[in-house]
This record gives sequence, structure tokens and C-alpha cells, in this order.
Amino acid sequence: MPQGAAANGSDCAPVLKEKGQREVFCGLTGIIWLHRKIQDAFFLIVGSRTCAHLMQSAAGVMIFAEPRFGTAIMEERDLAGLADANEELDRIVNQLLERRPEIKTLFLVGSCPSEVIKLDLAKAAQRLGGQYAPNVRVLNYSGSGIETTFTEGEDACLASLVPEMPTLPEDAPKNLILVGSLPDIVEDQFMRLFAKIGIDNVASLPERSVDKLPGIGPNTHFLLAQPFLGDTGQRLLERGAKRIDALFPFGVEGTTDWLTAAATTFGIDAGHVAEVLLPYQERARRGLQHQRERLEGKTIFFMPDSQLEVPLARFLANEMGTVLTEVGTPYLHRTHLTKELEHMPPGVQLSEGQHVDKQLERVRATKPDLTVCGLGLANPLENEGLSTKWAIELVFSPIHGFDQAGDLAELFARPMRRRDVLKV
Ligand code: SF4
Repeated sequence: MPQGAAANGSDCAPVLKEKGQREVFCGLTGIIWLHRKIQDAFFLIVGSRTCAHLMQSAAGVMIFAEPRFGTAIMEERDLAGLADANEELDRIVNQLLERRPEIKTLFLVGSCPSEVIKLDLAKAAQRLGGQYAPNVRVLNYSGSGIETTFTEGEDACLASLVPEMPTLPEDAPKNLILVGSLPDIVEDQFMRLFAKIGIDNVASLPERSVDKLPGIGPNTHFLLAQPFLGDTGQRLLERGAKRIDALFPFGVEGTTDWLTAAATTFGIDAGHVAEVLLPYQERARRGLQHQRERLEGKTIFFMPDSQLEVPLARFLANEMGTVLTEVGTPYLHRTHLTKELEHMPPGVQLSEGQHVDKQLERVRATKPDLTVCGLGLANPLENEGLSTKWAIELVFSPIHGFDQAGDLAELFARPMRRRDVLKV
């Protein structure tokens, strides 16, 4: 057993636990996709100029970014405790809500600076919520780099919405909630598929409007669309909803299992589900065929970044024939990933947490055909002749479901093709 390894509980090699320097974005980054999804909300980061710069450059990646987020910048006087940060915050919120009456929900998003000076944003949200109710709901969560990596910002945001979900009566009919922010086009595809399968009572968390939060009760079941929603899942369970255990909807295998698990929970005939899904599966497999020729037998190393690593590695290994050199993840949620781990090829090396120097040593020693990593590591590795894929691109791109399976494979195949072209 390698040093620092722990028992695994699946067929994979023991999980290598690592602790050390991290190279990932903070949870504020999630605002980039969340503000596009939740269209009547505003995200007010209570942070420093560094936070504002991060958001500006991250938003620059997104061509269609809209200004439904901003930063209340804490100046040196605030940080030194010379000014009353609460008064300042109230003033900024006041100005914002006067200028933007269309805002129905305001998220106060904590950052490293607000945490360092121990600005109590929960209390501030309560105070401002009382002041602006019923027109505006004020919630808070932390996106600070001390507490969160970039996808954990979405988890914290969605977890803050769970207490706001209306309670359904005990005799309410069964309902299904898809949990995780999906691009609208992908969400619409899934809604059409659920309707064809015969599940009509389906909603999303988050919905496009916070005003339309789905109800929750003892007959509520939920399907996680993203593997990084540990806190949100826990809060939904605490409110009495039941999690449907399934693979995550990546590739044909994952999407089939995800939809079928929901259909089984809703008592729908397996033969009918198989019949509905067949044309979608066939189309997706055709889309994957071409990419498989490029990815089969290639080696891939996942650095820990988004928590999407395990399901994506399962997709690449099982459907694309890719060889997994190492699959790192910042946090391995063993309950949510039980099925994923069972579907991994035997003996895969998993690592949890980050010690960037040790991981880079292993990348250099194994020289994989592709390394999936953060932006900060990609350039130096490319400079050393290794092909890389930015992990953040996988979070920004539509990759869930049958119709996106080919595009998902293409995201991994493209950097290798570019390298081959450059070699020629
Ligand atoms: Fe940097 Fe922290 Fe602000 Fe994120 S929250 S941009 S890590 S200072």
C-alpha cells in the first residue's frame, strides 16, 4: 500500500490521500454559471479588489456573460476595522436594489477578506431580508478560497436555497427534483425525456427563477446531476427527500443509468424505458464512435480540481477505452460516488486532496497522453511537451446527457489532435 493510502471500499487501488498546496479556483467562480442560470437573482460578492479581478477575468471566458453579479469592495479601512462594514454593506445593497428593481433574490457571497474580518453575512442577510421582504429575498453563502474550491461555490449556493423550498403535504403526489445547475438546453432535453418516459412531475434546483423553487415533502425524490453537491444533498435529505442512487449522466452508460434509476423509483416499466431510450443511445454511440478511435488506448491523468473527475474517468475508460493513469479529486464523496466507483475499471489509482508538487512529479514520471488540470498548471506542462485539458472548461461546457456525449469526448480528443498536428 503506498504511503498515505487508505482503505478504498471498491475494486480500485487504495485511495491515496494527499494534503498540501492546492492549485484551484475558489468558490466565487461558480457565480459565472450560476448568474446565467438563475435569472432573477443577483450575486453580490463581499470581497476585495482581488475578488473583483478574479470575477472579471473568469467572466471574460464567457462570451455571453451578463451583469447579474458585482463586488462590494472592502477597502483597507474596512479590513482594518476602521469603518463599520455592516453600514457600508447596507448602503451598497440599498443603492443596488433601488437601481435594479427586477432583482428578486440577492445572494451575499462571502470571500476570504469578509471571513478574515469575521463579517457575519448570515446576520446581514437576515437584517436586509427583513428590510426588503416580501419583494426581495436575501440569502448568503461562502465562496471564499479558504473554505471552497470552485465547484463547491455552487454547492454552497444551492444548499442556501434548500430551506427556502416550500413544504409539500404528506399526501402530495411523487415529485422528482434534478439537482445541479445545467445549461438550459440540456435541462430541456432531460425534461422532454422524462416526459416521454412517463415522469411529469419534474423540477430543477436551481430553477431559472428563484421564485419557482420546487416543493419538497416525504414523496420527493432527487437525482444529483453533479457530483460536487454534498452539502445540498445532505440538506435535501434532512428535509425528508430521498436520493436516487445512480451513475452521473455522462456518456451513454451514465445517462442511461441516471434516467433508468429515476424510472424504477417511479415504478415505470423497464421495457418501456428501454424502448424510449434506444434511439437516443444509438445516436449518442454513433457520435462517440469517431472519438473512440482517437481516445482508445491513450493515457489520461486527472489532477484534482472540480470533483467531476471520477464520473468523467469512468466514461472515458468504459466507453472510450482510455487508460486511467491516475484519477485525482479534491474530495471523494463516497456515498454519492458508490455506483461510480463500482463501475470503474479494477485497480485504478484514485487520489483525494491535493499536494500539487507530488502530483506533478507523478505526471512527469508517467508522461500521460493527456493531463486534465487547472489553468495555472496547464501552461508549464504544455511547455514541457505534455498535452493538457483545462478542467474548468468541463464545468462551463454542456456535457451531460446523450446528445452531448460526442461533444464531451471531443473535449478530451481535441488537445491530443492539436498535439499530433503540431508534431506533423
Ligand atoms: Fe482570492 Fe479569496 Fe477573493 Fe477567491 S475569495 S478571489 S481566493 S481573495
